[in-house]
Amino acid sequence: MKIVVLKFGGTSVGTTNKIKKVAEIIASYKKKNFKVIVVSSAMGGVTNELIKKSLEISDNYSDTEHDVLVSAGEQMACSLIAGRLIHRGFKSRSWLSWQLPIITVGRHKNSRINKINKNKIMKYLNEGGIPIVTGFQGINYENRITTIGRGGSDASAIMFAKFFKAERCVIYTDVEGVYTTDPNKLKKAKKIKVISYEEMLEMASLGAKVMQPVSIQDARLNRIDIEVKSSFKKKSGTLITKRSKIINNKIVTGITSTQNDSKVSLIGVKDKPGVAASIFKPLSKNLINVDMVVQNISANGKDTDLTFTVKTEDLNKTKKAIQENKYINYRKLMFEKGVSKISVIGVGMITTPGVTFRMFQALANKKINIQVISTSEIKISVLIDTKNTKKALIALHKEFKLDNKK
Ligand code: ADP
Ligand code: ASP
Ligand code: MG
Repeated sequence: MKIVVLKFGGTSVGTTNKIKKVAEIIASYKKKNFKVIVVSSAMGGVTNELIKKSLEISDNYSDTEHDVLVSAGEQMACSLIAGRLIHRGFKSRSWLSWQLPIITVGRHKNSRINKINKNKIMKYLNEGGIPIVTGFQGINYENRITTIGRGGSDASAIMFAKFFKAERCVIYTDVEGVYTTDPNKLKKAKKIKVISYEEMLEMASLGAKVMQPVSIQDARLNRIDIEVKSSFKKKSGTLITKRSKIINNKIVTGITSTQNDSKVSLIGVKDKPGVAASIFKPLSKNLINVDMVVQNISANGKDTDLTFTVKTEDLNKTKKAIQENKYINYRKLMFEKGVSKISVIGVGMITTPGVTFRMFQALANKKINIQVISTSEIKISVLIDTKNTKKALIALHKEFKLDNKK
């Protein structure tokens, strides 16, 4: 029995006309005798609207109610897809996560799918039905509705592919696949035919919104190949798979940029063991994600400067946590909004020296100042002024010969 999991993102189900097109894609798999499980996200913009409403009610909206509220978007989209398929003469119905159930573990707003009860879906598939399942949501062991993080329908689809041992898992979206950089930011971006889990995970974590990072981790752990393709154009997409299947002579596979980052600097911090831990402890307690960190070597052996980045939405919380921290001393505290992290990613870097130099030189040639640097085996990230993002993307894309020549 050939099972295929098809996931449609918010952009693909953004209007009723688009939903009609999505129904035709689903029908085409059914006609090829696949057993089709559909996972859908909410109509584009709906989740954001719901979050906005919650913030109008309270600036400290309860996490449990947040999940009930924002999961409503997926219910609407799934019913509309099922409704269209029924209209076209197919047997179809929507399923909400609790009706299966899809069991999650972990905190509200950021849970992980742990188990999917297959019985009802299996029975329905065997009867020739097309189940349309809500992405992004589940229920926990207390029977409360949960959600699995923004963009989480990607992870829902991967988990369906895992539990149902699907032959294929296709992520339908508004672009033709994964590109060397966001095609909506750079016209010269080129579609990548095949990419490894490792590179895709770095790209997704570093700002390539096309796939949610958790979903790539799950796919990698369970060796699930992912196809990413367009809901609107009949073109081949991108295959995300294991590294050993890929023949690649590229040094850099992709480039990413982030938005809405802020830089925090503590000047004149005592240079002694335990200081960094004292600074970061209250931040981690407040669930603030600290990203790039740099500490200067202290010139006089007594004090030093510490700089790190956080998401701008966490900046006020960060300020408060530092100012209220009685365990640290510093001379001056500085904040700067409007910084962006630009990263070049590629497994080819492991075997090719000189990538760091080429990146820094390309930015220097454009007079772009690098504020913070961080590296891993397969990526180099730099922090720059947000206003230079486009210029940096163009320069690096050209430097590493990624430009689409057409
Ligand atoms: P969906 O609604 O299908 O989940 P998303 O908005 O989450 O879609 O992701 C698709 C978007 O990701 C594209 O419109 C594109 O602007 C953005 N994107 C960012 N980086 C990349 C990249 N490297 N390749 C393709 N798309 C990218
Ligand atoms: N609708 C959810 C969101 O906007 C989940 C998803 O799009 O995958 O984050
Ligand atoms: Mg998405």
